[in-house]
Amino acid sequence: MDERIASPGAGRSVTDAPGPVLAVLRDIHQRHLADTSGTVASYIPELATADPALFGIALATADGHLYEVGDAGHCFTIQSISKPLVYGLALADHGRAFVLSKVGVEPSGEAFNSIIFDERTNRPFNPMVNAGAIATTALIRGDGLAARFGRVRALLSAFAGRELEMDERVFLSERETGHRNRAIAWLERHFGMIDERLDEHLDLYFQQCAVLVTARDLAVMAATLANAGRNPLTGRRVLAPEHVRDVLSVMHSCGMYDYAGEWSFSVGLPAKSGVGGGIIAVLPGQLGIGTFSPPLDDRGNSHRGIRVCEELSDRFDLHVFAVHPPATVIRQQYRDGEGCFRHRRNDSEQAALAGCATAIAVYELQGDLYFATVERLLRAVQAEFPDFAFLILDAHRVGRIDSSARRLLTMLLEMLAAAGKPLLLAGFPEEAVAQLLQPGEAWPADTFFASAETALTWCEDRLIAGGSDG
Ligand code: GLN
Repeated sequence: MDERIASPGAGRSVTDAPGPVLAVLRDIHQRHLADTSGTVASYIPELATADPALFGIALATADGHLYEVGDAGHCFTIQSISKPLVYGLALADHGRAFVLSKVGVEPSGEAFNSIIFDERTNRPFNPMVNAGAIATTALIRGDGLAARFGRVRALLSAFAGRELEMDERVFLSERETGHRNRAIAWLERHFGMIDERLDEHLDLYFQQCAVLVTARDLAVMAATLANAGRNPLTGRRVLAPEHVRDVLSVMHSCGMYDYAGEWSFSVGLPAKSGVGGGIIAVLPGQLGIGTFSPPLDDRGNSHRGIRVCEELSDRFDLHVFAVHPPATVIRQQYRDGEGCFRHRRNDSEQAALAGCATAIAVYELQGDLYFATVERLLRAVQAEFPDFAFLILDAHRVGRIDSSARRLLTMLLEMLAAAGKPLLLAGFPEEAVAQLLQPGEAWPADTFFASAETALTWCEDRLIAGGSDG
């Protein structure tokens, strides 16, 4: 196994050396410490024993840095925050189409324990309300309760980056008193949405809800989602990126129940709350937040957790719809001849090149390549298209290259090849070269070069050979 399960203290914590980020977290924690609004959940009797004063905040970056304040190391039950993660496991077990046939993705605007189903399809509205979560849990593969819970616990542990345990007392307490969830499951059985193992599905659901986590664990789980499904502390892939996208989508529209609309308006982060007092919030690509404060508002969301997330989003400008316009992708653009390489050529070579000083166009790129930046590049290339015979894209300053950029670059290669104009990719990160060379895509042998200089030399050699041929 490639995994490395870290202990609760693992990760590079800077708790002892406060910097600006930790200072803000401490300030927010301090300012909400005295707020006693809300009530600890008591409909699961065992939850009523929680200390309402407990209050922890943790933030984990998508590259695995942890910041934590207050009771961020205190254990409590994950409750509904397990729902989006187990939804991810159901997607991995069955694929999107099948899961969608059992559980919708429509915000219900209803409370978490709503017993209302989508009348047209008999499906529960979404996997974040109890009805949808029970139907989702019913999909988890495995032979018998122990094996299935083993898979769920392994998933949650991989998300947290450490081995998680279940609180047996909370499990039994909910199992004894969860009549409403039992009624929901019976209705789902009636509609044919779950199979006959109804008691087993409910036990599994109650067990997943009783898994013990800390605010720090929640932040790491959220950061794993922010990191497209790879736990940044352990380096282990927990969920495929396409499933992470689906999980974040339902968290965004449904994660906070009948507060989801207001939450996405004011906080603007895909999130999930649990009646144990936890909340996770995710800023894709950047960070995950985990908060813990047991007193809940009347919608079953942690009162202080909401305040903290609102303030964090506001102070760090974390709203997913805060628009960051694309950075300049073309750092500079030149023609061979303007460059400094030709002086290395002997006299006859220089003479051969003299007539075609501008035949080689070089674009030095920077930053990430994705739709908006590659589209700008394509427009610039197109405008110059009649004037060059060779095109070199120099990517030694390029970061991420997404699938859309790869597709567009492949199409550019094909268009240039059809026009008899070679496209040379210089200094592309090794990983990107591997991704571009996907099976079925026939890149010519002379496409990838270590640097713009070697690519230029290759083009010049062609021009010299062409000149002496003719
Ligand atoms: N186990 C809880 C229930 O099913 C989870 C609810 C929640 O956290 N919102 O009622």
